[in-house]
Amino acid sequence: MRREGTNEASVEMSDVLCDYCHASWTMDRPMIEGHHGSCICGVCLRMAYASVHLGGCDDAVAGTAAKCTMCLEERTDPCFRSPAYPDALICLRCIKMGAKALARDPDSNWTTPADTQTS
Ligand SMILES: [Zn+2]
Ligand SMILES: [Zn+2]
Repeated sequence: MRREGTNEASVEMSDVLCDYCHASWTMDRPMIEGHHGSCICGVCLRMAYASVHLGGCDDAVAGTAAKCTMCLEERTDPCFRSPAYPDALICLRCIKMGAKALARDPDSNWTTPADTQTS
């Protein structure tokens, strides 16, 4: 999301906030941008990845399609809900896409959380 009062013509890093923890974008906090300016930071993405993808958690309300904050689609795959801002959801597809993009970006210093499960 954008900080309130952001000048859209010249968006600064500090104007870009994570929808899931409302921290601003810094050099050591990489961001992945979704649709309509929604963002998730590397810290929240790591949490979401570990919880939903590795841990098999699903924060979606059973029986209802969850609207993902990142892709704005109603998703039926497992979702991660921000513990601090319950309106912010991210679907497993966006978690995986975001993790792939961040892990590929050499500047992000972001590594995919290790899959410790035995398969
Ligand atoms: Zn965050
Ligand atoms: Zn999504």
